[in-house]
Amino acid sequence: MINKSFISLLKSGDRKTLAKAITLIESKNIDHRREAEKLIEIILPYTGNSKRIGISGVTGSGKSTLINFLGLSLIKNGYKVAVLAVDPTSPINGGSLLGDKTRMEELSMETNSFIRPSPSGNSLGGITTKTREVILLCEAAGYDFVIVETLGVGQSEHSVHDLVDLFTVILNPGTGDDIQGIKKGIIELADILIINKADGYLLKQAEITYNDYNQAILIQNREIPPEVFLLSALKNIGIKKVFDSIELFFKKNNLNIEKRRKKQSTLWMHQLIEEQIKNIIKNDITLNKEINEYETQINKGNISPINASKKIVQQIFKINPLI
Ligand code: GDP
Repeated sequence: MINKSFISLLKSGDRKTLAKAITLIESKNIDHRREAEKLIEIILPYTGNSKRIGISGVTGSGKSTLINFLGLSLIKNGYKVAVLAVDPTSPINGGSLLGDKTRMEELSMETNSFIRPSPSGNSLGGITTKTREVILLCEAAGYDFVIVETLGVGQSEHSVHDLVDLFTVILNPGTGDDIQGIKKGIIELADILIINKADGYLLKQAEITYNDYNQAILIQNREIPPEVFLLSALKNIGIKKVFDSIELFFKKNNLNIEKRRKKQSTLWMHQLIEEQIKNIIKNDITLNKEINEYETQINKGNISPINASKKIVQQIFKINPLI
């Protein structure tokens, strides 16, 4: 599958080829994995040129409404936009809530857009172990902006933060009460915070939430604090301001982005080491038999989980484990 004409079609921005390449990257088949690795090595020199944006928020917060308009604005300004979207049928997204509603409808009809839902089932709020490689494929295909949409579920916010240059979180009015809780983590991670649905009967509450978050940011004392915006994605009020802020962020933060990407690259290596070790363990039939035997012994109370794990690690690496 991976030959010269495939690569040149991919680099020319052919959307069918890009979709095929992503399917290959996401495949669990061992032969496909090998081909996928080859593909990534080949395209790596043509990557890195996009602006990577993460957009996170709970289901129903307005992510797809915002991405739709933001994407259209970017395209109007001459850019090509790829969106790695959350699959609305994914169980973690509460599929029944959204049904089969078409998301980002206008954006999906643009020739300069590419929308790819993450595979359901094996993604953490839209992020998989392959999302990073999918971003690289979109870049090789010439996309200027890659938007990664994720659900605001704890770990997925950290995962997407480790993949993008700019991390945006969408909140809804009335979520100011729990600033002490999980949302505090968001303030530490986000570059842009958006209070969406600032319209109609929600407007007043949205303003209160906006003020709450601005206060919380003051206390946080971050070197570059996140910018907070009031938005009505539905009525297209405030999107221009968000758009301008995104443009300015990329103009102002070249050095910071470079630093962030370097950190992300080394993190990628560490994640790959862990993934490879996991795969070695998973595919070693003899070792798995022994692990099963240890499981039986643990259940019988003959060995503690700590000692069993040490013995297994000792066997794999031929070293004395530290814990
Ligand atoms: P997502 O699940 O985060 O992608 O959320 P959607 O973009 O699908 O929006 C969820 C619901 O909220 C839809 O019915 C939207 O029409 C509505 N919605 C989105 N943005 C706004 C907004 O700014 N104001 C109001 N009132 N509703 C909005």
